[in-house]
Amino acid sequence: MRADRRTAPGARAPRAVAGVLCAAVLVCALLGAGPAAAVSPPDQLVTSLTSLTSLPVADAQTVDYSSGPYADRLCPTTPASGVACSLGRSLLATTQGAGHRDRAVEADATCERQAGLWVCFDVRSFLVQRGGTTYGDTFLSPDGQRDLGADLVAHESEHVRQWRLFGPDFSLMYLAEGVDPCGNYFEQQAGLAAGGYSCG
Ligand SMILES: [Zn+2]
Repeated sequence: MRADRRTAPGARAPRAVAGVLCAAVLVCALLGAGPAAAVSPPDQLVTSLTSLTSLPVADAQTVDYSSGPYADRLCPTTPASGVACSLGRSLLATTQGAGHRDRAVEADATCERQAGLWVCFDVRSFLVQRGGTTYGDTFLSPDGQRDLGADLVAHESEHVRQWRLFGPDFSLMYLAEGVDPCGNYFEQQAGLAAGGYSCG
């Protein structure tokens, strides 16, 4: 989720409107309109899992959610159940992103990787808010193909990480933080300025 930095300030949708759209998108995803049932090919899974350690981070260091307000929603730290939980959530984010990419390509969108982040451009879907939305491991943008820049890639990559860490409940947790990105814990951790938000 980000503000549309290519839009002139006077023409930009109010932050609240963008937030509501983002919330609506997450609700749709939660209700099953987002993830596809398709299963990713094994090589795609391996590629995505390998990228877990190569995604850029928002603020030069990995955000630590274990001391945040949603620490109890992370996978357990016990070896057996913790590993299974983490792997399951990562695979779900991968499958979710792959499903969105498949549908985007079928609708003539262009998908590529930028600095480890999957990005689809020219996505025409009600699931995508004005500036773009990340589902699982993929950022869906309504804009034409372009270089997102390091800041936005880092911001959206942190959202990918949030999906992987918190699993499918992430959408509800995000909504619980409210529609104003400036007051949203997950947007704050992803970096407000990097996401294009100007918060006083
Ligand atoms: Zn965001």
